[in-house]
Amino acid sequence: KRTHTRLPEWLKTPIPSNDNFKRIKNDLRGLNLHTVCEEARCPNISDCWGGSNKSAATATIMLMGDTCTRGCRFCSVKTAKAPPPLDPHEPENTAEALSRWGLGYVVLTSVDRDDIADGGARHFAETIIKIKQKAPTMLVEALTGDYAGDLDMVSLVAKSGLDVYAHNVETTEELTPSVRDRRAKFRQSLAVLKAAKEAKPDLITKTSIMLGLGETEDQLWRTLRELRAIDVDVVTFGQYMRPTKRHMKVEEYVTPATFELWRQRALDLGFLYCASGPLVRSSYKAGEAFIENVLK
Ligand code: SF4
Ligand code: SF4
Repeated sequence: KRTHTRLPEWLKTPIPSNDNFKRIKNDLRGLNLHTVCEEARCPNISDCWGGSNKSAATATIMLMGDTCTRGCRFCSVKTAKAPPPLDPHEPENTAEALSRWGLGYVVLTSVDRDDIADGGARHFAETIIKIKQKAPTMLVEALTGDYAGDLDMVSLVAKSGLDVYAHNVETTEELTPSVRDRRAKFRQSLAVLKAAKEAKPDLITKTSIMLGLGETEDQLWRTLRELRAIDVDVVTFGQYMRPTKRHMKVEEYVTPATFELWRQRALDLGFLYCASGPLVRSSYKAGEAFIENVLK
């Protein structure tokens, strides 16, 4: 069997640098705001933070600590049964820092907190409410976990004033048990996306799928059709990259042309927009895509 010690050319990325990116990075100093973009050294940072227009600039912030109660086989976040308690000042401080940063579009995400009764849903919703109070024009996307299937919590977050509700199915139904934590279920994730839409029908719902885990074309088609059937608006595709040797292997490096094919297929199925490419992450240029496709 082939081993993948060398990355294909299309996964090698240049060092980010452009003026807008540098300016935004400068603004961030002293705000005590930790972005996933910087901490994960995301290769898209100049695309997301840069671009011609600051009102479309996108960044991702992680809430509720750096330790997850789950252990998905593709993810490098630390795991513990009982991570430290939530910081009660985080909603206020995050909203304050974001309003001073003056970003166009923020993606809020979090670790999963199965150790907390509401999974952190109220904390998440409070953060969104405070951001919308302090920075009413900032567009907010929440990328949440599944709240262990508690759809009242999904509804609570969906009604907190956000613009986009994202929850990632990550992979096909067939591969879910070998990819995601055992508490994550494909059907449960569909139920989350459906509940978010039902709670607030004008909300944009969004999900993300990693390619290169061994999924088949048939499985992917079925996944996309199921997502459309519950009115998911946006899908993104990116290449799975193995964080360390302890994580699951990459089965395939999918070519840029195949990513483009899936983008076209998604649009043909009626998705409102689709970001698809080897380096795409679910938040990739999300602000620009929202402005072009939803606010147009
Ligand atoms: Fe940040 Fe997401 Fe863009 Fe990466 S893709 S720079 S994590 S917003
Ligand atoms: Fe990583 Fe999310 Fe899985 Fe936690 S639930 S291990 S943060 S992918």
